[in-house]
Amino acid sequence: MGDVRGFIKFERSASKYRPVEERIGDYNEVNITIPVEELTEEGARCMDCGTPFCHSLGCPLANLIPEWNDLVFRGKWEEAWMRLELTNNFPEITGRLCPAPCEESCTLSINRAPVSIKQIERAIIEKAFGEGWVIPRPPETETGRHIAIVGSGPSGLAAGQQLRRAGHRVTVFEKSDRPGGILMYGIPNFKLEKDILERRLDQLREEGVIFETDVEVGVDISARYLKKKFDAVLLAMGAGEPRDLDVPGRDLEGIVFALDYLSCATKGILEGKTSRYSGQEEQDSQREKKFLSAEGKRVLVIGGGDTGSDCVGTATRQGATSVTQIEILPKPMDWRESYNPQWPYWPKKLRKSSSHEEAERRGILKQEWSVTVKEFRGKRESGNNDMKTVGEAKLVRVEWKKSGNGYKPTEIPGSQFTIESDLVILAMGFLHVKHSKLLSELGLEFNERGNIKIDRHYMTSVPGIFAAGDSHTGASLIVRALNHGRRAASSIDSFLG
Ligand SMILES: Cc1cc2nc3c(=O)[nH]c(=O)nc-3n(C[C@H](O)[C@H](O)[C@H](O)COP(=O)(O)OP(=O)(O)OC[C@H]3O[C@@H](n4cnc5c(N)ncnc54)[C@H](O)[C@@H]3O)c2cc1C
Repeated sequence: MGDVRGFIKFERSASKYRPVEERIGDYNEVNITIPVEELTEEGARCMDCGTPFCHSLGCPLANLIPEWNDLVFRGKWEEAWMRLELTNNFPEITGRLCPAPCEESCTLSINRAPVSIKQIERAIIEKAFGEGWVIPRPPETETGRHIAIVGSGPSGLAAGQQLRRAGHRVTVFEKSDRPGGILMYGIPNFKLEKDILERRLDQLREEGVIFETDVEVGVDISARYLKKKFDAVLLAMGAGEPRDLDVPGRDLEGIVFALDYLSCATKGILEGKTSRYSGQEEQDSQREKKFLSAEGKRVLVIGGGDTGSDCVGTATRQGATSVTQIEILPKPMDWRESYNPQWPYWPKKLRKSSSHEEAERRGILKQEWSVTVKEFRGKRESGNNDMKTVGEAKLVRVEWKKSGNGYKPTEIPGSQFTIESDLVILAMGFLHVKHSKLLSELGLEFNERGNIKIDRHYMTSVPGIFAAGDSHTGASLIVRALNHGRRAASSIDSFLG
C-alpha cells in the first residue's frame, strides 16, 4: 500500500464514456480508457485490506487486485500485468465487460465509492498490449495428447489456452463461422469491438490452438468420433436454450430471440453492411430477413437484464422509432449513493446502462416493471389481410405475492394495457444447455436445472468428458466462464497424467 491516505485524498475515477450524441451514430466502443495519471491516484485509493474481499469474495477468478493496484500506484506496470496474467487469461474482456462484483465488495464501498478496479485492469492490459509484452507463449514440449473443446466462448478459449500452454494439442470446434461464442456474436460492438477479441484469438492461434469453425459437433462430427480421436473432451457449449413465452400469437412474424437479433446486427457490421442490415445467412427464412433490423420500427424488448439493455442500444442505433423494455420482476431499489447498501455482496439496485442513456436522449425509451405478456396480435399490412406480422402486445401488471418459500407474480385485475409493436425481442435469459443429439449420444447426466452435471473435477458422468462455463452453470457471467475454463483445464491436465 503506497499511500496510506490515498483513499481520503483522492476521489474515484469512474468509467468514462464517449458523448451520447457521438456514440449513438456509430457502433464503436462507448467506454474510454482512463488516462494513466488518473489511475495512479486510483491505485493509491486501495487500502490493501487485511481481508481483501475484492479478491476473495468478489472476483470469481481471485484476481490479485490489491497487489496490482499497488504496482500501478508505483508505476510498475509490467509487474502489474504479470500479476494480472497469473489469474486471468483475457483481462481486456473482463476489463470491459465484467459487472465488477469486485468493486461492490471493495471495503471502501461500505460508505464511499469503491476503487475503480475494472478501469485499472483494463488500463494494465491495454498498456501490456501497447508495450508489446503480450506475446504468444507456445509450449516448449509437446505431450502428444489431443483434446477436443466443443464451443469457443470464454470458457472454451480459456481452457484451450491453458491446455495448449501445458503442451497438449488442442482443437476447438465451433458451430458458428467465427470463434468467440457470445463474445463474438452476442455482445454488441459498442461494448466490445471485435478486433479486441481477434487480437487475443490471434495469440491463441500462434500458440498452436486449432480452431475448426462451421463445425457443429453432434451433426457434422459424431460423439463416437470425438471419443475415438481425442484423449479428453471439454464441453463448453454455453446455455443454448433461450427462455420462450407460451402465449397466444407467439408464432407471429417479427417476434425474435435476443441472441438472433444481436448476432444478426453484429454480423452485419463485421461484413461491412449498414446498420440497416437485416439479413442473416442464405438459408435463413424470409421471415428473419424481413425483421432483424429495428429501423423505423416500434420495438418491444421483453426482459429487463443486460441482454435486454444490449437490444435497446442496438435498436437505438438502428433507428427504432420507439423502444419499450418490460420486466416481470419489480423495479429494484433506486439507489443513487455511490456506496453499496448490501456490502460485500452484489446489491439488487436499479442500474442505468449506457444504452438506456442513449435511448432516453433520443426520447424513445419507456421502461416498465412488474409487467408480463398475455398475448400478441397481428396487424393488417397493405394489400394483405392475413395478419401474419406482430402489431401489438397485450400486457398486464402483476403483483408479487408470498407463496411457500418464495414469491409468485399474480395478475392485477383490470390492469391490462396494449403496446403497439412491429418488432418484439425476447430477452428473458436461457433455460439451460441445449439438450442436443450430441449430449444424448454421449449419455451424459444433467443436474436439477437441466445443465450438464459435473463432479468437483469438472468431469461429467462419462469418464474423460468434462464440462465448463454456462453449459454447466446455466447463463452466468464471462468471469465465471473464464474461471471454469481454467479449472477444467487443470483437471484435464491432471486426468491425462
Ligand atoms: C447478449 C448477451 C450479453 C452478455 N453480456 C455480458 C456482459 O456484458 N458481461 C458478462 O460478464 N456476461 C455477459 N453475458 C453472459 C456471458 O456472455 C456468458 O456467461 C458467457 O459467454 C458464457 O461463456 P461460455 O464459454 O460458457 O459459452 P458461450 O459464450 O455461450 O459459447 C458457447 C459456444 O459454443 C458453441 N456451440 C454450442 N454447441 C456447439 C456444438 N454442438 N458444436 C460446436 N459449437 C457449439 C456456440 O456456438 C457458442 O459459440 C452476456 C450474455 C448475452 C447473451
